[in-house]
Amino acid sequence: MPSILNADLHCHSVVSDGTLTPEALAERAAANGVELWALTDHDEIGGQHRAIAAARAHGMKYLTGAEISVTFAGETVHIVGLGFDPDDAGLRAGLLATRGGRGVRAQEMSEGLAKVGILGAYEGALRFVGNPELISRTHFARFLVESGVCKDTPEVFRKYLTEGKPGYVPHRWATLKDAVHWITEAGGIAVVAHPGRYNFTANEEHALFTEFQAHGGRAIEVVTGSHAPAEYVEYAEKAIEYGFAASRGSDFHSPDESHMDLGKLPWLPGTLTPVWELLEDRIQ
Ligand code: AMP
Ligand code: MN
Ligand code: MN
Ligand code: MN
Repeated sequence: MPSILNADLHCHSVVSDGTLTPEALAERAAANGVELWALTDHDEIGGQHRAIAAARAHGMKYLTGAEISVTFAGETVHIVGLGFDPDDAGLRAGLLATRGGRGVRAQEMSEGLAKVGILGAYEGALRFVGNPELISRTHFARFLVESGVCKDTPEVFRKYLTEGKPGYVPHRWATLKDAVHWITEAGGIAVVAHPGRYNFTANEEHALFTEFQAHGGRAIEVVTGSHAPAEYVEYAEKAIEYGFAASRGSDFHSPDESHMDLGKLPWLPGTLTPVWELLEDRIQ
């Protein structure tokens, strides 16, 4: 597998907070020239068998995927798993436990929004949910846009759904150690998703990378729809510094919301080890 490969190893379907089905995503990815694809729904692998079949139907190579929510140093960090066995019992149990708190959290978010006069947000968000176990802030954001409270989803996050705002509810997700172990024990590779998006100090980021590596994590996302171009350079350097392989993924959620489309990303710098080089035997 060459390093110049149209790999898109990060996106979301209706199984989590995307708006397209796994089949529609596969069709769009193939039309955009994706050669190696992974569907990485949040905390959920219920779409994997559909995605594998759809990738095959479009002649794309496929890696299994998931994006696990983790709490590290008081912040939410996302860990992408690639190339695991989707039937692995430990991984399935871990993801089920991670999803578990979302229902109550969503009710509390709704109560917070009600206090500032936004009523019925839980029921409103539910109308956008494809998987009842996976209600997320994104579904609330879509409801608040639909009801005219905000003009787009970034505005909703800024005003209502981030720390200190009325709809924000702190939540304890999986530990870094558990998430990396669930992935690696299921035969996969763990990847730090969009490292440029966390509000970490240099010391905290260093702690994240070294602990992640100590637990068995082997890659970070470098070229992602969640990074600004300057961050491609910054995290390419950090991949080399720490000895991480590099991943590439759009983080596509929706044709209406995502600024980076499936497969339409800059290439990974040729100086890096692409994560798919570590996963040759897991590609289907
Ligand atoms: P949750 O897992 O419920 O906390 O929701 C997290 C999801 O919200 C992320 O995966 C993104 O899809 C979305 N999200 C987070 N921050 C923002 C933002 N500032 N603007 C738009 N979407 C965001
Ligand atoms: Mn999301
Ligand atoms: Mn993420
Ligand atoms: Mn994502």
